[in-house]
Amino acid sequence: MTLTIAFDNSYARLPGRFHARQTATPVAEPRLIALNRALAARLGLDADALASPEGVAVLAGNAVPEGAEPLAQAYAGHQFGGWVPQLGDGRALLLGEIIAPDGARFDLQLKGSGRTPFSRGGDGRAWLGPVLREYVVSEAMAALGLPTTRALAAVATGEPVWRDGFARPGAVLTRVAASHIRVGTFQYFAAQGDTEAVALLARHAIERHYPDASDALGLIAGVVTRQARLIAGWMSVGFIHGVMNTDNMTVSGETIDYGPCAFMDTYRPDKVFSSIDAGGRYAWANQPQVALWNLAQLASALLPLIAPDQEAAIEAATEVVNRFAAIYQAEWTRRFGRKIGLAEAGEDDLPLIQSLLGAMARNEADFTRCFHGLSDGTARDTFIDPTAFDAWAVDWQARLAREADPVATMQSANPVRIPRNHRIEQAIAAALEGDFAPFHALNAALAAPYSHVEGTEWLEAAPEPEEIVARTFC
Ligand code: AMP
Ligand code: MG
Ligand code: MG
Repeated sequence: MTLTIAFDNSYARLPGRFHARQTATPVAEPRLIALNRALAARLGLDADALASPEGVAVLAGNAVPEGAEPLAQAYAGHQFGGWVPQLGDGRALLLGEIIAPDGARFDLQLKGSGRTPFSRGGDGRAWLGPVLREYVVSEAMAALGLPTTRALAAVATGEPVWRDGFARPGAVLTRVAASHIRVGTFQYFAAQGDTEAVALLARHAIERHYPDASDALGLIAGVVTRQARLIAGWMSVGFIHGVMNTDNMTVSGETIDYGPCAFMDTYRPDKVFSSIDAGGRYAWANQPQVALWNLAQLASALLPLIAPDQEAAIEAATEVVNRFAAIYQAEWTRRFGRKIGLAEAGEDDLPLIQSLLGAMARNEADFTRCFHGLSDGTARDTFIDPTAFDAWAVDWQARLAREADPVATMQSANPVRIPRNHRIEQAIAAALEGDFAPFHALNAALAAPYSHVEGTEWLEAAPEPEEIVARTFC
C-alpha cells in the first residue's frame, strides 16, 4: 500500500522567519487508535493507505511523507490578557498543505509530535486524554455544522508522557484546518515592527481565506464577520471554548484548540469549566466580548497596512471592528430564534428568547435537553418548577401561531446529542484501561446530532448528579 499525498506548501514558501523547519521526534510503538475515513475521503486521501503501517508511521511522525516540509509555525499571543511575544508551535508540526478534490486547501498538522524551537520548557508531547477529547469534540463541532479544525487520526505512541507526576500514554493527533494562521501570528510580526512580514502574511491570508478582500481592512472585515458568526454558533449550542487567547483564534473563522473546552449541561450564563480560568474571563456569556477584544488586537497588528497616518488607520479599523456587534447580534437572534421555532426571528422576538433563557437559568434547566424538548413537549420537565416554563409558553404559543412549521425549524436547530463532559471523561477512563469502544461509540453517536438514533439515549440524557464533571483540564 503506497501512501501518496500531493502536497503544495504555500506557508513553507513564506520567508524563514515565519517558521522553524523541524521534523517530528519518532515514537517507540505507533498504533492507530482512530482514522476518520469520511474526512480522508473529503480530502481525497486514501484511507486504507493511511491505515497501513506506512501510513501510521506518517501519522505518528516516524516517517516524513514525500512532498511534506514539516515546520513549526511562529506566533505570539495574549494569554488571559497578558502579552507573550513568542509562543509558536511547541508541540505541533505543519506537515504541509493539500488541495482537496473540490479545490479547497487544507493544512495537515501533527499535534504532540515532539519538541520544536518553540517548546520552551515543554516536552512537545500530548497524552491520550486531550487527544481523544479534541478528536471527539472537534468532530462533534463539525457535525453540528459549525466551522472547526478537524481530526483526521489519533495514534498511540507507546511512550509515556509525564503529567502532574503521572505517567500517561502518549498520543499524536492529526489535525486538519483551512489554515493554522492565528490572530497571534499577525501579532508576532507586528510586535517586532516587521511590517513587511505583516503584509506578506495578510496577502497569504487573503489569498487563502478571503479572495474577495482587496486590502487589510477587507481582511479584518472578513475575520470579524466569520468570528462573529462562529461565536454566535458556539453560544447556540452551549459551547465554552475555555482558552480564547489570541493565539487560539483563527483568521479562517474555524474553532481551534480544544483544550479545557466543554458543552454545558445545566444552563448558566457565567459557566466556566477550565481549571486555569480562575477569573472566569472565558465564561460562556463573556465569549462575544472576548472575541471582539481579540479582533481589536488583530486590527492593531494590521494598522500599518491600513493608512500611513496612524489616526486615520485607527479610525478606519475601529469602524470595521465595531461591525462585530451587529453581525453577532443578528446571527445570535437568527440561531436562538430558530431554536424556539421562529424561522426568521427579529429584534421584537428578543424579549421572548431572553425570558426563556432567564427562566432556564433560575430553574437549572439542561441547555440541550430544554431546547430540544421544545419540539416534543418535554422542555418543561427540565425545569425545577415546570409551571415557570408553562408561564413562558403562553407567550411562546401565541408567537408560534404566526409560524408555518415551527417543529421542523426547532428540530433543525436543536441538537439532541452533544459531547457531554461526563461521557468524554468515561471514554478517556476506559481508553486508559485499553478499551476504546466507548470512544468509538461516542464518535458514532455524535456524527448525526440533530436526529434521534436508536440506542443513543445514553448520550441524550443529562448527567446524574454523581456523574457531573465540573472542571476540565488542558
Ligand atoms: P495552548 O494552551 O494549547 O494554546 O498552548 C500554548 C502554547 O504552549 C503553545 O505555544 C503551545 O505550542 C505550547 N505548548 C503547550 N503544550 C506544550 C507541550 N507539552 N510542549 C511544548 N509546548 C507546549
Ligand atoms: Mg493553542
Ligand atoms: Mg491547547
